[in-house]
Amino acid sequence: MRLDFGNERVLAVVAHGDDAELLCAGTLARAKAAGAAVGVAVLCLGDKGQPAEPIPRLAAVRRRETTAAARLLGAELFWGRVPDGTLADDRPTRLRLTEICRRFRPSLVLAHAPQDYHPDHRAAAALAEAASWFCAARGQKTKSPALPASPALWWMDSVNMNGFEPGFFVDVSKYMPLKEAMLACHRSQAARGGDGDFSPLQDLMRLQAAARGAQAGVAAAEAFRAHHAFKRTRAW
Ligand SMILES: [Zn+2]
Repeated sequence: MRLDFGNERVLAVVAHGDDAELLCAGTLARAKAAGAAVGVAVLCLGDKGQPAEPIPRLAAVRRRETTAAARLLGAELFWGRVPDGTLADDRPTRLRLTEICRRFRPSLVLAHAPQDYHPDHRAAAALAEAASWFCAARGQKTKSPALPASPALWWMDSVNMNGFEPGFFVDVSKYMPLKEAMLACHRSQAARGGDGDFSPLQDLMRLQAAARGAQAGVAAAEAFRAHHAFKRTRAW
């Protein structure tokens, strides 16, 4: 199968600042290189992922790190500004993400899987499904007008591949150096590498890309599953 991102507008909807780097940055980079517009919506503030040696004003630090990574990719960034660990599929956040979708006008949304093990990721999955669907509903009022059609939606792999059954793989072998450089921007999270409640992120990302790549017969891959619903499923 030949995947062509050329005329796409791809929006990743993630809970935390480093999730796109771990789960879909290679695909975003590949889409960008093919001529697509790419965006990342980060829903949480990044205020609670503290290393053992606490970092003052962590949310501002993580915002800078996320901005630096998005700049390497050439992605437009959007912010949800919900405190970490409290993300919920509620009306205000749905409307905020619906408005983000209407501003970016994605043709494809990448989102955390509904079965992800992290509560913020599961909430982001529900929010992404709702907002990317209802952004095309004229009855759902936000500042910007409704889109003519709902974008396609792909569920992303989970961090460490826990409980995710891939539907297909995107070969990101050529974009691993960029994915690594983007993840390296997240210094505050790299500082948590040795903490008992966290993992060394670069190792984890490399191992996952190689494992998914091995399953697909390439050096490095990212895994997804398509969301299937009336008028949202596409033929590629
Ligand atoms: Zn996360």
